[in-house]
Amino acid sequence: MHKIVISLLVMFIISAGVNAQTEGPAPMKPEMTEIWDPEVTVVTPGATPVNAPSDAIVLFDGVNLENEWTDSKGGVPGWKVENGCATVVKGTGTIKTKRVFQDFQLHIEWRTPEEIVGESQGRGNSGVFLQERYEVQILDSYNNRTYRNGQAGSLYKQHAPLVNASKKPGEWQVYDIIYTAPRFNKDGTYFTPPVVTVLHNGVLIQNSVKLRGPTEFIGIPEYSIEEHGPGSLVLQDHSNPVSFRNIWIREL
Ligand code: MG
Repeated sequence: MHKIVISLLVMFIISAGVNAQTEGPAPMKPEMTEIWDPEVTVVTPGATPVNAPSDAIVLFDGVNLENEWTDSKGGVPGWKVENGCATVVKGTGTIKTKRVFQDFQLHIEWRTPEEIVGESQGRGNSGVFLQERYEVQILDSYNNRTYRNGQAGSLYKQHAPLVNASKKPGEWQVYDIIYTAPRFNKDGTYFTPPVVTVLHNGVLIQNSVKLRGPTEFIGIPEYSIEEHGPGSLVLQDHSNPVSFRNIWIREL
């Protein structure tokens, strides 16, 4: 018994010594914030297209992308517009709305390529960034395993969707997003955090979830909180030819 106590004591002293010699935690890696299990339950959504109501701002009507959107530098978007939709052209970068928004209801329809290329995060990846900071992930999550907090409908690396309501690649899908922007304390921290509700193909997948901070690929969101006002919507170029149509927004 004494031997066990003594060896535990020795281990404690050695580990305390090791900690004292290091200058802080090891650098984080992307996989450190990936959560894979348990896998999100699959449900099959119904098919119900939604037209813009009378008080909505139409952000994309299937024809004129440049009316309401620019590329990341303020120029004409490089994405391809044809057959009533806009499609990511790899390497042309994100696009953003000319208008900025605070609290809103957003309707956006998207489609990942019918031809399956890649896996996990490399298949049909795009995203809707709310106020340029908070990503609702777009991904082909139909029979495509990835970390649960990075699949379609996740608030990337912060909240996994309640269920997986994904349609097959090549089929149009819908997000209806209700967003309440954060309010800030004088020191730049959140007084109230961003709050997001998401319906995916009419199925509730995020129910008034609170964000911890801006979306981060690596590391802890709280560390990157900066006070901000209204912001653009941003659609991501993640090198996959994801298409968009029928985008409208209602300011709240
Ligand atoms: Mg993405």
